[in-house]
Amino acid sequence: MNVQFVLLPGDGIGPEIVSQARRVLEAVADKFSHSFHFQEHLIGGCAIDATGDPLPEATLDACKKSDAVLLGAVGGPKWDDPSAKTRPEAGLLRIRKELQLFANLRPITPFPELLDASPLKPEILRGTDILFFRELTGGIYFGPSSCEDLPGGGQRAQSTMVYETYEVERIFRLAAEAARNRRGKLTMVDKANVLEASRLWRRVCGQLVQQEYSDLEYEVVLVDAMAMHLISRPASFDVVVTSNMFGDILTDEASMLPGSLGMLPSASLGESGPGLYEPIHGSAPDIAGKGIANPLATILASAMMLRHSCQMPDEADCIEQAVKRTLAAGARTADIAKPNEQAYGTVEITDSVLTAL
Ligand code: NAD
Repeated sequence: MNVQFVLLPGDGIGPEIVSQARRVLEAVADKFSHSFHFQEHLIGGCAIDATGDPLPEATLDACKKSDAVLLGAVGGPKWDDPSAKTRPEAGLLRIRKELQLFANLRPITPFPELLDASPLKPEILRGTDILFFRELTGGIYFGPSSCEDLPGGGQRAQSTMVYETYEVERIFRLAAEAARNRRGKLTMVDKANVLEASRLWRRVCGQLVQQEYSDLEYEVVLVDAMAMHLISRPASFDVVVTSNMFGDILTDEASMLPGSLGMLPSASLGESGPGLYEPIHGSAPDIAGKGIANPLATILASAMMLRHSCQMPDEADCIEQAVKRTLAAGARTADIAKPNEQAYGTVEITDSVLTAL
């Protein structure tokens, strides 16, 4: 297959980790006789420096024409001035909006070799393999909001959670299809005992289960209870689907389960068109340029990219298995190494992944 990828390395450790993911993708192309083409473009702080815009038109155009986009990370202290005209993160929000990426997928799969790195006990964590679907373009982050001064002093502010049927249906369908291809269990998280918008989610999802997905084991869980269950019995979940704000909070909570940010990929998908793939961590300015960043989250994001945007499940499995074998062989970057354990550099651990591949 002939595939066009856009790489957006961004800021901080972004260029270091994206270049390593590219090496892995090139090796996969060789192994499976594909032609992968790469274009690199600017986003974030480096784009502000070069063009004044965190998402230059040339970047957006290239992304829209591509099959998939792999992003490193944006931001850093250089662009943190609160009075600045624009910020690196604005580029990220805009690209998600422009590509209409309404579904954010975050797999939470702690590696057995790294159970020690988690703050949870290994016996609670063992067997955990969750795929989160967070709605990304609706809900309280995008509903009407306002803040007004009150005549007697003080202010009154409001943010509104708004959802329409089609927004719930399209993310639920993606999650349900994914559950079918996994262990067949689907958990929908809401706050239907209090919020009208959640009651819409519950009705729409319930109807879809009845009409199209009655083969799935389906449950609904209130978001406050879910926050507890994620810590007490994470291994009991398979696919979890939820709204924007609940997903934002729960996926950050869940990201602590594997113990290191450096291991977690994510994907953002729309109805059609290219998906956006990235590690969940930021630009790690404290370690940028030192050659010690963990590239595995970005390498695993490139596996998600092959699975979801290129229909290459075997190639994706191949990368994920290579990462597993690398960890099983004892290779660790500094963020996941135990005290006194020898730490690999960014390039060195990628060499190990390539050998395993
Ligand atoms: P961060 O995720 O960049 O770093 C948090 C800690 O984790 C740091 O100690 C860092 O060294 C470590 N870390 C992160 N990724 C690592 C990796 N791959 N290997 C080894 N260690 C790693 O979060 P932060 O420090 O809060 O933010 C730094 C900058 O990143 C800020 O400007 C923030 O706005 C930006 N940010 C960007 C994104 C994104 O681009 N999607 C996401 C979060 C934060």
